[in-house]
Amino acid sequence: MPIVTKYVCDRCEKFYDKPEEVKNVGVAVSNGNAMASSYNYNHVAIKIRKLWCHPCLKETGLLPYTKEEEKKQEPKKISLEDIIFDMIADEVNDRLANQ
Ligand SMILES: [Zn+2]
Repeated sequence: MPIVTKYVCDRCEKFYDKPEEVKNVGVAVSNGNAMASSYNYNHVAIKIRKLWCHPCLKETGLLPYTKEEEKKQEPKKISLEDIIFDMIADEVNDRLANQ
């Protein structure tokens, strides 16, 4: 009886057949100060570790889209919050300009 291994994205919960379709994602806090010139976390124990698929990594900005993928992206839908924020920003700018 064969054994089949599936990989599940912890974010979207989709199943994947190949290990290269998902990546380990971890959160760590470096002991270095804010002026450190590099982000090397090899010496830091990662306490939170998840398995995320490529679409989730790209959607969250952790992996870049290829140029072909960017062309296929639907234009971003404008949310009600975006509209309200823009209206408030316009009003504030108008008031600051008229002072
Ligand atoms: Zn996913």
